[in-house]
Amino acid sequence: MIDLVFRSRRVVTPLITGPASVHVAEGKIETVREWNDVPAGVELVDAGDSVVMPGNVDAHVHVNEPGRTEWEGYETATRAAAAGGVTTIVDMPLNSIPPTTTLAGFEEKLAASTGKCTVNVAFWGGVVPGNPAELAPLVERGVRGFKCFLIHSGVDEFPHVTEANLREAMPEIARLGSVLLVHAEVPGPIDAAAAKIAGGDPREYDTFLRSRPPESENEAIEMMISLCRETGCCVHIVHLSSGDACAAIRSAKAEGLPITAETCPHYLTFAAEDIADGATHYKCCPPVRDRANREKLWRGVADGMIDMVVSDHSPCTPALKFRETGDFMAAWGGISALQFGLPVMWTNLRARGSGIADLTRLMSAQPAKLAGLDKHKGKLAAGYDADIVVWDPDKRFTVVPELILHRHKLTPYSGMELFGKIASTFVGGRQVFADGEFVGQKSGKLLT
Ligand SMILES: [Zn+2]
Repeated sequence: MIDLVFRSRRVVTPLITGPASVHVAEGKIETVREWNDVPAGVELVDAGDSVVMPGNVDAHVHVNEPGRTEWEGYETATRAAAAGGVTTIVDMPLNSIPPTTTLAGFEEKLAASTGKCTVNVAFWGGVVPGNPAELAPLVERGVRGFKCFLIHSGVDEFPHVTEANLREAMPEIARLGSVLLVHAEVPGPIDAAAAKIAGGDPREYDTFLRSRPPESENEAIEMMISLCRETGCCVHIVHLSSGDACAAIRSAKAEGLPITAETCPHYLTFAAEDIADGATHYKCCPPVRDRANREKLWRGVADGMIDMVVSDHSPCTPALKFRETGDFMAAWGGISALQFGLPVMWTNLRARGSGIADLTRLMSAQPAKLAGLDKHKGKLAAGYDADIVVWDPDKRFTVVPELILHRHKLTPYSGMELFGKIASTFVGGRQVFADGEFVGQKSGKLLT
């Protein structure tokens, strides 16, 4: 029995962006029909010329609860997500305490998130030295895959792995049919750079930039490609920043290796040349590099080498960003941006002549696939969940503090004028956000 219909002149399905109606029964899409094919007496969301598309799936979000809830938490993160047209987030295993590296840690995270979520939440587990025996129970309980670091993660309770650790973990992940997400920076070139920048001004962005050279990423990616080839384990490169690594990933894909890559809106939007001294809210690892590098990443987006764009929302308390001293070397590395991924990417894509179908592929369908959610999320098609965002691609707005719903308002997008205003967000067929207000109940599910 159809109980809700969406229609618009711009419905994004896997086949078309155009006039259509989306018929929903009990939170799931029953069918997609002609624009004027709407049964009488059914609740109709008539979106006019606004876009009706699958809600974004943000596969890279650090919620930090429990343990560092003062940085961000489920309540605030999932509200910001809903306001930004994101209907599912996948939480990273670190920065919360405990991290999601054991079954017991995962149970604590599930308990901490229960009842708080406006949008759906899925979870990544973590690979750390000595936890291969935890991987199978974590998959059994519902993690969507595993994240690891090849260099200090920023928090001591989530230690990084060595190549030897990966030779233990990757065959097990392959056996489980899961995926390994890798923070691809190795210590060698970064340790070598430390000597060269000694005495540099820590307020200058360039000092920080030189401390995280692209060679560190390039070497890490080369290593992951050979481990992928050796073990058959699916590998996903998170937050790709080095444009020079694109060629290696491209040829690994051409070889047929199971490897994917994501980048983030900040690497596609900002450039090192434009970052002011002391502007530590731009600090993330790996860093935002120069304009020429940014263009290489855009070429990767254009030719499909980069599979998806996700936020890497990684906030902290304002104090940890050291804005008063502007010390890049001391500041926490992480950018806060969950709420603005869709409009930021749309603003970029429209300026570069791309369409809404690209946006949907990069921010809904592909991240859903990475997290193994692609049977129910990321598309408007029969059998999929009615996780839907309605938004106006021609309407502009400015990112002002009153709009920002992350726990903390510090973000490099402050003051920017963006295209793409979210009108309303539906999770499982229920409206959760409309015209700037939260409505209805918290409708997010924990996807385990
Ligand atoms: Zn991250």
